[in-house]
Amino acid sequence: MKDETKLITSGRNKKFTQGTVNPIIQRASSIIFNSVEQKKYAFKNRMNGKLFYGRYGTLSHFALQEAMIELENGSGCVLYPCGTAAITHSILAFISEGDHILITGSAYEPTQNFCRVISKKMNIQISWFDPLIGVNIAHLIQDNTKLIVLESPSSITMEIQNIPEIIKSARTKKKDIVILLDNTWSAGIFLKPINIGVDISIQSGTKYILGHSDGMLGIAVSNLRCWKQLKEHACLMGQTVDADTAYMAIRGLRTLYIRLKQHEENGLNIAHWLTDHPKVYKVNHPALPVCRGHEYFLRDFSGSSGLFSFILKQRLTNVQLSNFLNNFKYFKMAYSWGGFESLIITNQIEELNSIRPVGLLDFTGTLVRIHVGLEHYTDLIQDLKNGLDRI
Ligand SMILES: *Cc1c(COP(=O)(O)O)cnc(C)c1O
Repeated sequence: MKDETKLITSGRNKKFTQGTVNPIIQRASSIIFNSVEQKKYAFKNRMNGKLFYGRYGTLSHFALQEAMIELENGSGCVLYPCGTAAITHSILAFISEGDHILITGSAYEPTQNFCRVISKKMNIQISWFDPLIGVNIAHLIQDNTKLIVLESPSSITMEIQNIPEIIKSARTKKKDIVILLDNTWSAGIFLKPINIGVDISIQSGTKYILGHSDGMLGIAVSNLRCWKQLKEHACLMGQTVDADTAYMAIRGLRTLYIRLKQHEENGLNIAHWLTDHPKVYKVNHPALPVCRGHEYFLRDFSGSSGLFSFILKQRLTNVQLSNFLNNFKYFKMAYSWGGFESLIITNQIEELNSIRPVGLLDFTGTLVRIHVGLEHYTDLIQDLKNGLDRI
């Protein structure tokens, strides 16, 4: 079945929909058992999609989990209150005091911060690596290496990692290393991490899956090997999300493919336009050859979403920054991304370098990150043109 069809049909088994088109929103804490035997059965199967207690999920959650497992070719799916919780708990599920973690130095900043904190508090050893490390990851593997955290493309600078090579080299040295990947950028559509050897594919469902900037959700899809441990840890830590948000995520899935295709087309049009702009030094869009790791994008991804960055030739002063950012018509100034609307945010290079443990950036211009929304791209280009003219 193609993804377009999966997104329409998945999670719509009659047990979830009870005869309507969509799964029901089942809000619950208590589940009522009709007999002692039924209660025993529910307890025994509480991790396997049987109703037991609200925290373990209701029909709304089970429908979303089933859909995500189908989309990402996994064996199990855990839901969390936000993407950050999905990342931190996927890490915690597999580590103990004294273990060693490898993490890309270009990871999402809260992921980095979490690793720094556990390194101090739990005596976890952290090594950062350049996103383009490839086979050289083997040199960083130690006897106590438990886990590798990947994110591709990188947050903000958009490098694409050679995921299959990293996994192969790491596992050649140590077979049982757990590999996590933050797959938010591809939305589980343009990259299928579990197919290329990743153990757990994590998404901030806050972004493309919910897709409307109106909720928070984290999703981890696991292969069979890691599934039990991931799930048991999430239950232990009380990780869950409300039924209404689970329902909204299912609703988001129905239009995910068509939205992403439009984000892709708009994004590419704008990336090409920016490439030719005299004030732009470089466009970090994975589908452009100038993006670091572009060859791995061509090999592993089937498309690009709407988030990328570009670097201006000039470092903007505070006055220029205000003038540039305060006056956009369509590009709203905000964190996060993945909704229907266009967003813009800037970073000075020294700010980026201050959070980058390895692979410091050596250019001097201001970096602009945009999420290209679903507006018509010619309106967005006009908006960006006016913005660049204001500099
Ligand atoms: C937003 C984001 C997260 C965190 O998700 P929240 O739902 O905001 O907690 C994690 N990884 C990436 C790449 C993100 O962009």
